[in-house]
Amino acid sequence: MHEEQFGAAAPFGPATERSRDILNELDRTLLKKIKEMGGLETYVQSVPELKDAFNNKNHDLCCMDERTAKGALSTPGSGILIEGDQAQQAYIERLKEAGVDGVYSHNECGAAKIYAKEHGIEDDNAAAVAYSKDLAEKLGVAYKGHIKSSGIHPGRAVYYDTTGQIDRGSNAWQEKMPTGFSVSRNILNEQEAEDALVLAVKIAFGSHGYGSNAFSEQDPLSVIYISKPSENTFEHEAKLKQELAKAYERIEREIPEAKGRIHIEGIEAPLQKEEDKELKEAA
Ligand SMILES: [Zn+2]
Repeated sequence: MHEEQFGAAAPFGPATERSRDILNELDRTLLKKIKEMGGLETYVQSVPELKDAFNNKNHDLCCMDERTAKGALSTPGSGILIEGDQAQQAYIERLKEAGVDGVYSHNECGAAKIYAKEHGIEDDNAAAVAYSKDLAEKLGVAYKGHIKSSGIHPGRAVYYDTTGQIDRGSNAWQEKMPTGFSVSRNILNEQEAEDALVLAVKIAFGSHGYGSNAFSEQDPLSVIYISKPSENTFEHEAKLKQELAKAYERIEREIPEAKGRIHIEGIEAPLQKEEDKELKEAA
């Protein structure tokens, strides 16, 4: 649906007020439709072309930013806000385990701006590039460049992804899924993932996003956790729900205007063909 208005598979930030309003309206309508259908899981199952969008083999790391969807791994500023050598080292280990292929940075990065401010650095773009280049070197993978992003943040959703396989840059995702930030829970510890989620909500409700007036009880910001079918046990889901409930309590404290304007739901990533086969064989 976004394709008709903005071109195929181009993550972007709406640069004009009109394109911003159109995109906001498209996503509001889509989220309403999803709600009417009984939730995102039912919706995703009803859109066959989305299946491949949950099986991203490109494990590049990029910002959680909705305007820069590159690769399956997403964290604020590619990880620039993770403080301390030990935490960075643990992050690097998780990235290796996730099979990271390369690292991106981007301009107008909220996380890099926060980092630059905290460290008294004037040029946040230079800080973003330096961090991502250094991280790529430590990982032994390529630094893939500084992506352009423009306009305001158009996220009406935040994906809290435990699979590390979602493909927000794909045609199918850009057209059929609500525009959103993505936090790759598989490469962050619980605290880091919570920090990322709270930051995404702050941006969406702040002056760089649609702002708090764009969200209401009827039109909430969607926080969507995504699990692999193989991991979607009762315990796994209970743990995720607990994590998100804790994050929501913090959101209520730190972003009071978001209270009652956030909808949390979970989906199981659609089964892939190989997994389909394995499951069938096992049955
Ligand atoms: Zn960013």
